[in-house]
Amino acid sequence: MSDMSSRIETIQAVAGFHEIKPVPAKSYDQIGEGYGRDAFGIRTMRERLPKDVFKSVMRTIELGERLDPSIANTVANAMKDWAIERGATHYTHWFHPLTGATAEKHDSFLSPDGQGGSLAEFSGNQLIQGEPDASSFPSGGVRQTFEARGYTAWDATSPVFISRGTESATLCIPTVFVSYTGEALDKKTPLLRSIDAVSSQAMRILRLFGTDEGVSRVFATCGPEQEYFLIDRRYYLSRPDLLMCGRTLFGAASQKHQQLDDHYFGSIPDRVQSFMVEAEARLHALGVPVKTRHNEVAPAQYELAPEFETANIAVDHQQMTMQILQTSAPKLGLQCLMHEKPFAGVNGSGKHVNWSLSTNTGTNLLDPRDDTHTNMQFLVVLAAVIRAVDLHADLLRASIASASNDHRLGANEAPPAIISIFLGDMLTDIVHQIEKGSATSTKKGSDMDLGARTLPQIPRHSGDRNRTSPFAFTGNKFEFRAVGSNSSIAWPNAVINTIVAESLDHIASKLEESVGANPTEAKLKAAVKKLLKQIIKEHKRVLFDGDNYAQEWHEEAEKRGLPNFKDTVQALDALKTKKAKDIFKKYGVLNPVELEARYETYIEQYATKLRIEADTMVSIASNMILPAAVRYQGQLATAVAQTSAADVGCEELRASLEELSDLVCQLRADCSELQRLTHEQRAMEGHDAAKFLRDNVIPAMTELRSVADTLENIVADDLWPLPKYREMLFIK
Ligand code: ADP
Ligand code: MG
Repeated sequence: MSDMSSRIETIQAVAGFHEIKPVPAKSYDQIGEGYGRDAFGIRTMRERLPKDVFKSVMRTIELGERLDPSIANTVANAMKDWAIERGATHYTHWFHPLTGATAEKHDSFLSPDGQGGSLAEFSGNQLIQGEPDASSFPSGGVRQTFEARGYTAWDATSPVFISRGTESATLCIPTVFVSYTGEALDKKTPLLRSIDAVSSQAMRILRLFGTDEGVSRVFATCGPEQEYFLIDRRYYLSRPDLLMCGRTLFGAASQKHQQLDDHYFGSIPDRVQSFMVEAEARLHALGVPVKTRHNEVAPAQYELAPEFETANIAVDHQQMTMQILQTSAPKLGLQCLMHEKPFAGVNGSGKHVNWSLSTNTGTNLLDPRDDTHTNMQFLVVLAAVIRAVDLHADLLRASIASASNDHRLGANEAPPAIISIFLGDMLTDIVHQIEKGSATSTKKGSDMDLGARTLPQIPRHSGDRNRTSPFAFTGNKFEFRAVGSNSSIAWPNAVINTIVAESLDHIASKLEESVGANPTEAKLKAAVKKLLKQIIKEHKRVLFDGDNYAQEWHEEAEKRGLPNFKDTVQALDALKTKKAKDIFKKYGVLNPVELEARYETYIEQYATKLRIEADTMVSIASNMILPAAVRYQGQLATAVAQTSAADVGCEELRASLEELSDLVCQLRADCSELQRLTHEQRAMEGHDAAKFLRDNVIPAMTELRSVADTLENIVADDLWPLPKYREMLFIK
């Protein structure tokens, strides 16, 4: 063929990628200097705000007091000056609609001065409240377009920041987004409410133990680890499935994938390191404390982790991180894929959400300390988490449900859909002791002798890790590992906070009831012992330290009565139960209308994503794969005709032609069937549509893919119209 297929041209171009100059390495000083430069954080506020105003804002941030509106003008003015000095021309109320992304609508600082010129203005009112029309965001029926008024309101607990494009800089104000009637239309409002709820309940526990001195608030803390793929952007642009859906809908496995485990923690390819440096520098400027980078298990997969922060800020920073990863990659000719399962057959990507509770004075309530068995307050908080996860495993499962995460959960890379808790040897031992009566000892770690005298002795932890557990205790925090790489962490965080608030409430109430508000130490200890024993007895079924992938566990979990919602359609039902309505209402996190709106929005998102995937599959199969296969069929047919005309035996060639012709017919038939099914579901809505897509359209997609992937291995390489797995995953 004279015109080389674009796929092969791309391989050659990528192989010569060194035209792309890596960014010069940034020195420690350069990074240090720029750290937090684009965030109006506490340090900047202290410098820029009058003392009394600064103190007033800090009372909101640290003590959770209501914001004093009379300071708004002063703060707004300082922010405006600071932002303009840094090149900003516009401001925006930045919020988290239910799409899972963030939203912004920019307004200029400039207003006409009435004399033909302009002046820069930004008032307290503009800081505190916005009114984007924003009627096209999903509201799950809370809001009709004819009553589209919605408000954004400043969340002073998360720093404003400057978002930079190539030629633009915009002051972004973290806000919540609510309807005219005050219903939460976003992910942030329930999160903030849940943070309040867990704080109030945790404070009651501290008061009982007398550890509340100087403490005014308990924060949920969060450190989210982000996994992602990076591939050459030219491959991305020549795959309609990646472009439309963020994942490959077709693609035969490459011969080598991750069998050798040679990518995990491997040396980071040069271009990828340049990308990481670029993204990290931008994140550091925003005050996002990114810390760790490494190669992940799948080829072309990487991970980034920040230091933990209070949950609210961590959630904002996480959204900023996803955005910066995505916008930094094209600068190096790369595309960052955040989808949970961009490539079949290799690991997908998740987000490990590390979570704990900490006082505003910095005490981690999940720090077991030495002699853990004597640390009653820790054991109470631990018991609260165990009880919460057991009672509301269904809500946790629902909080991470999405069409894309369905590919990952339960596959051999992510925890199964069964929610259980890993505690590790030391805590498991203590929990056993509690159950039997009382805990009297703590298993200790030991020193390890490494054999060679030149090596240091290193301490061994008292328990190993377990990578297969969805909710694992990892030293001084829990790690919720089932969250998808693409999802906002606001909702899972809100759910954890709410269910733990309920259990802390339960424990505090029981203890207050039995010992009164100011108990003696002995009395309290006895009451705690009794209550812990009861909680462990009732909820120990959720504890599991073994291999979560093993079939035996799935059977065992069923015997224990643990829920196993295998897909999003099943999982989301948890939001419709009375139990869910009650708990979200009781802790003021979501009223029943708001909760219902989330169900409606998430089920609709599931259906919409699947529809787009099915339509994209039909398009690729009929416009790209079928034509390629038919071309090859023609070549083979010509070869067969010419060979037999030359009177040479060609049985094998004829067999190949027959095999190919069968597959082509099959592809055509499968494609029509998928198209028919997608038409059929168009008449359905909500849950019915989602269920139909799950039960009928997904199997038809799987069938079509399998035929297409077989063809990929048969059709001549130069005719194949899509970049192949081995190219996307291995040419760096
Ligand atoms: P790994 O999961 O591999 O053990 P790390 O120990 O580095 O990795 O921790 C992972 C994440 O957990 C980091 O983002 C870290 O900041 C976060 N983390 C550590 N302590 C806490 C805590 N008390 N609360 C919330 N997150 C935490
Ligand atoms: Mg981890």
